[in-house]
Amino acid sequence: MTIKFTTRLSTENIVSKSSETATTPVGYVHSFETFGSVDGPGIRFVAFLQGCRMRCEFCHNPDTWNIGSGEAYTADELIAKALPYKAFWGKDGGITCSGGESLIQIDFLIDLFKKCQAQGINTCLDTCGQPFTYKEPFFSKFKKLMKYTDLSMVDIKHIDSGEHKRLTGFSNEHILEMIEYMSNHGHHMWIRHVLIPERTDYDTYLTRLGDYVQTLDNVDRVEVLPYHTMGIVKYEKMGIKYPLAGIEPPTHDRIVNAERLLHTADYPKSNANIRKF
Ligand code: SF4
Repeated sequence: MTIKFTTRLSTENIVSKSSETATTPVGYVHSFETFGSVDGPGIRFVAFLQGCRMRCEFCHNPDTWNIGSGEAYTADELIAKALPYKAFWGKDGGITCSGGESLIQIDFLIDLFKKCQAQGINTCLDTCGQPFTYKEPFFSKFKKLMKYTDLSMVDIKHIDSGEHKRLTGFSNEHILEMIEYMSNHGHHMWIRHVLIPERTDYDTYLTRLGDYVQTLDNVDRVEVLPYHTMGIVKYEKMGIKYPLAGIEPPTHDRIVNAERLLHTADYPKSNANIRKF
């Protein structure tokens, strides 16, 4: 969800699917980043999966929204594409799936992360949680995915459900349910929050969010991500009106204030069951 410098796909990257069986899950990928440094621990190979149902006003990658487009990869093909970079991963790095919203392609994720772990590759899921539900068949798949996920980076877009809906098009109850499930079942998380003037940058909301996160277990890091306007050019190219026109990035003082109210310095908590990477 935080695409920084991406390597766009080209046709020579696509591997033939002719040898795959019909039941092999296929993932649709928007782009790759080969040396990701902000998408999980260490240096990581990041696959930005295509498709997202949310419509965050601040989204800087509207080109990832469309579901079902992108370039198709099997898990084996994606791992083969990542492995040449393994020497750079060290003991902490590995493969991250981001988006778009990766959980939309949960069958592919299960297959990919299972195969990664079998090869000793660290797995990180970057998600906004929108697809999460306790309904079947999703929930059983989610539990299976968590078995193969070393770390989840979870965005909380807004702590207030009504404001969350205004900001993203969806309320946040099911997202908080997913986070609480992870908290209660030993699944390690980094919690991230985009700081946006006139949307999330209010002390009352930040205090609520900080208090909420403090009730959770297995949170290894809390990050404030300052809103930026780098995505505007994509909206212009796609002919979409930019929803946050006129809103500037937060000031340094407001970023420091948000970090204080979210208690970012408290993580990882000294008494927590901290995942060692
Ligand atoms: S969750 Fe929001 S920010 Fe992330 S891809 Fe979807 S619309 Fe964009």
